[in-house]
Amino acid sequence: MRCPYCKTDSDKVVDTRSVDESWATRRRRECLKCGRRFTTYERVEESPLKVVKKDGSRVPFDRTKIRLGIERACGNLPIPAETIDGAVASIENEVFSKYEREVPSVLIGELVMRELAGINKVAYVRFASVYREFQEVGEFYNVLEEINDSSGSAPRPQGATGPAPGGD
Ligand SMILES: [Zn+2]
Repeated sequence: MRCPYCKTDSDKVVDTRSVDESWATRRRRECLKCGRRFTTYERVEESPLKVVKKDGSRVPFDRTKIRLGIERACGNLPIPAETIDGAVASIENEVFSKYEREVPSVLIGELVMRELAGINKVAYVRFASVYREFQEVGEFYNVLEEINDSSGSAPRPQGATGPAPGGD
């Protein structure tokens, strides 16, 4: 690393630590020539993997979206967070080991279904019913959004507009 003061490319690392919860590593370095100290940040390159939707459009691969979708499908079922972590990791591992640049959204949908099937039948059916509907219009990512949007409260009648009737 080039020293910002004397421009010499010779230093030693005096301290290394990760920065909060971000994927960055902070390194405190000391220039071996002028002895001054400076700090560098190292960051893992953002995933270039894209999800190809059925209409051909591409969106960045987003593990948070997948996680939220699974969490919502699991709703208030007694499912430990570690189980969901494991499912997300398993989906991510499979996707990243097989696809380098682009992955079809349908494949992610199938992987989520497979994981949910192994976790809980209710969660699986919940996800699958929404997924199947959307598969026809070809937007898997909408499923995740749909599930993420539903708060788990009583379902509204289809086609209903305006505020839900209160009281009663
Ligand atoms: Zn220096």
